[in-house]
Amino acid sequence: MIYDVAIIGGGPSGLMAAITASQNGANCILIDKGNKLGRKLAISGGGRCNVTNVLPDEELIDHIPGNGRFLYSAFSIFNNQSIIQFFESLGVALKEEDKGRMFPVSNSAKEVVQVLLNQLDKLNVTTKKDSPVKTIHYGDSTHTVTLNTGENIIARTVIIAVGGKSVPQTGSTGDGYAWAKKAGHTVTDLYPTEVPLTSKEPFIKERVLQGLSLRDIVISVLNPKGKTIKSHRWDIIFTHQGISGPAALRLSQFVVKALKKFKTKEVTVTIDSFPNENEEQVFQKLMKLAKDSPKRAIKTVWKGIVPERYLHFLLEKAGIPLDQTYAHLPNQDVRNVAKLLKAFPIQVNGTLSIEKAFITGGGVSLKEIVPNTMGSKIMPGLYFCGEVLDIHGYTGGFNITAAFSTGHVAGKSAAEYSTTV
Ligand SMILES: Cc1cc2nc3c(=O)[nH]c(=O)nc-3n(C[C@H](O)[C@H](O)[C@H](O)COP(=O)(O)OP(=O)(O)OC[C@H]3O[C@@H](n4cnc5c(N)ncnc54)[C@H](O)[C@@H]3O)c2cc1C
Repeated sequence: MIYDVAIIGGGPSGLMAAITASQNGANCILIDKGNKLGRKLAISGGGRCNVTNVLPDEELIDHIPGNGRFLYSAFSIFNNQSIIQFFESLGVALKEEDKGRMFPVSNSAKEVVQVLLNQLDKLNVTTKKDSPVKTIHYGDSTHTVTLNTGENIIARTVIIAVGGKSVPQTGSTGDGYAWAKKAGHTVTDLYPTEVPLTSKEPFIKERVLQGLSLRDIVISVLNPKGKTIKSHRWDIIFTHQGISGPAALRLSQFVVKALKKFKTKEVTVTIDSFPNENEEQVFQKLMKLAKDSPKRAIKTVWKGIVPERYLHFLLEKAGIPLDQTYAHLPNQDVRNVAKLLKAFPIQVNGTLSIEKAFITGGGVSLKEIVPNTMGSKIMPGLYFCGEVLDIHGYTGGFNITAAFSTGHVAGKSAAEYSTTV
């Protein structure tokens, strides 16, 4: 039997590709190595399944720093609004949360995955689980997908939707890159993105701030000359290895790139606890509080400006005893505290591994992919979608949006192409 479309990988991109190809009249087979489809989708967004993000296309693209502009064509065919309509037409009510993130009203990732699986059934897509693909043999008019068992599946078109290398226990172990290279494609350098930062600073090693969250701060990575390369405003949390939390995750790819670019072992990351005020204003605020209660210890008068643990830590860094009062407080000491509150520097030496990252940066080079079909410019009848491509966004539904969008486009194009061979 020759299938019109063989889709390898049952993540969001592969599931959407299979559904769309089938809706476009193709006889499809979806092959996955695991015993469950959509495993990563089911744990996204804290297990509630962050199906998409409702921001306008332009802003969506801004939130996909890894080649988001490549997605203009795909979004013009199937964007976040299309994803919302797709799920709502299947009876999944969605709700918007902070920063445009869309979740099922049920908060149930299972519901989202189940409707995708129901669609596969309804459209008679052949699904083959527990079937790791070993390799692809490329032919002239058909391609052959060979499973680890030795079984061969022949199809007019093949869609590679096997994801990246991150969180391999979900099945994404980077198998697609070798198949892409075999077809003549370039795979760009792979690196972890959306991943906690690591540091060897004594206060990190000694777990002085472990578990402490700082809300609505600005975290920045600096170049060796002290100039800001990139900043993100949101929350962070100190861990036993470094810094995590959404703002740190967003900064991580810029840390990875800076370490590489400047060939240094460490880069400086700063934390600004008062993004809306400059250093002078913070200094004046501290002075006023201290002056207003001249006989009280500064640990008491400054209580509440930042979390207490952080305040005590910074006062210690500035060499100021916690029970100092205004009467004995040199202006320069207050300036030093203001400086630390505006830009507390931390030497960061890297990130956790690609396996521990939420997303894989790099992938199949987009120079060799047609943006409005997701087809290979090198191998006829070969398509790619999802994280296997050199596309990565911030967490918040942007990667899933890219996966659904590229999956839709690949499925549609592969179905159309299969009728011509
Ligand atoms: C914990 C976590 C939370 C996340 N949260 C968010 C979020 O909030 N927002 C966001 O946008 N993104 C998030 N992501 C990222 C998002 O889930 C992924 O970008 C997305 O799932 C990628 O989809 P995909 O279809 O390309 O690949 P995947 O979802 O990785 O699916 C790939 C599939 O291919 C199969 N496969 C792999 N190799 C083979 C093989 N050799 N043979 C057969 N099958 C194979 C795998 O079993 C798997 O089912 C999160 C990721 C993680 C790990």
